[in-house]
Amino acid sequence: MARDIYIPAAFRCFQGFVVRDLKEFRKEQLMEIHLEHSEGHQPHCHRCGSRLGAYHGRHSMRLKHVRMMSWEVRICFYRNKHHCAECKKIRSERIDFLCPISPHLTKELSWWVNRLTEMSAVNQVSRLESIDKKTCYEVDKHILRNLLQGYKIPSIEALAVDEVYARSKVQLKPGENKDDLFFTVIIDARTRRVIWVTQSRRKEALDEFFELIGPAACQKIFVVATDQHEAYSQSVKQYCPGAKVIWDRFHLVQKFNEALNLDRDDELRRLVEAKKISKDYLLRRHKYKFLTKAENRSPSAQKHIEKISKMNHKIAQMEIIKEHFHQLFECPTYLEAKPMFDDCVRWAFESKARCLLQWLKSIGR
Ligand SMILES: [Zn+2]
Repeated sequence: MARDIYIPAAFRCFQGFVVRDLKEFRKEQLMEIHLEHSEGHQPHCHRCGSRLGAYHGRHSMRLKHVRMMSWEVRICFYRNKHHCAECKKIRSERIDFLCPISPHLTKELSWWVNRLTEMSAVNQVSRLESIDKKTCYEVDKHILRNLLQGYKIPSIEALAVDEVYARSKVQLKPGENKDDLFFTVIIDARTRRVIWVTQSRRKEALDEFFELIGPAACQKIFVVATDQHEAYSQSVKQYCPGAKVIWDRFHLVQKFNEALNLDRDDELRRLVEAKKISKDYLLRRHKYKFLTKAENRSPSAQKHIEKISKMNHKIAQMEIIKEHFHQLFECPTYLEAKPMFDDCVRWAFESKARCLLQWLKSIGR
């Protein structure tokens, strides 16, 4: 190494190697750090870890490292091959700073990729760091797996269970059905933390969790919030007979809106056929105006709804039912909420909102 080259401390951290040269490529904003084995370096097998024997050649390595002042950094060196008496084979030497998942990255960069994936989606990280998406996924998975070793499910009394869409239909494997495209996510309702995730949204997915925590822990659970997915309710009934199954507000409002939309669309179509409004009123962007609560609407959206409500009495009635339904969740007790819910059912019946009435009756049972 030339005496007059200053090597920053951050570049002197490659175990078993010393920096021989630094090369800068200003146009490409790239820096290459060239390494050579340090004196007295003892090679070890990358598989079994034992001391290696006779030298059997080398191959060049060019690892991507964490950026330095926005410049790309590459680590260049030769990796030696030796005979391993333990494996009885020619083996490459162990490189302590090499990422265990990819032979193209340093451990430091894989750590950085993992930190970034905590803040952002994997494909965004892949674009930011110019590392292919699959490598980013693999690195992230490897580090997470190490972090989760020894993880213990905390003691829980209130659970929330939900499904998330994990794969597209194209990725359906033989013998799987639509339920297998989901993950079941189990959340501690008190801390709002995800405590477990299982594959698929079948009953067996939640069964697996209850079997894992055991009957004693199941007995402590007194409430489980789910969407209206029947398989989850059945699993709770079987494993936690003492727990109350409740439907969470988000899913109830979602299903309520779906039913209401069907009835409202019928009325809007009737207005279009009578040539009272243009076809544009059936567009999706106008539908969203109806979905928001009155207090959150913009003045123009409010005007739009008032105009239609004046033209069609049934739509006006359905708006009142919707606002009443939202207020229901503010009730502190069941006794206060029940009459409000009954109002919604009665009004849906009186205004002949067929789909809405059917849905309200289905949850009222
Ligand atoms: Zn070996």
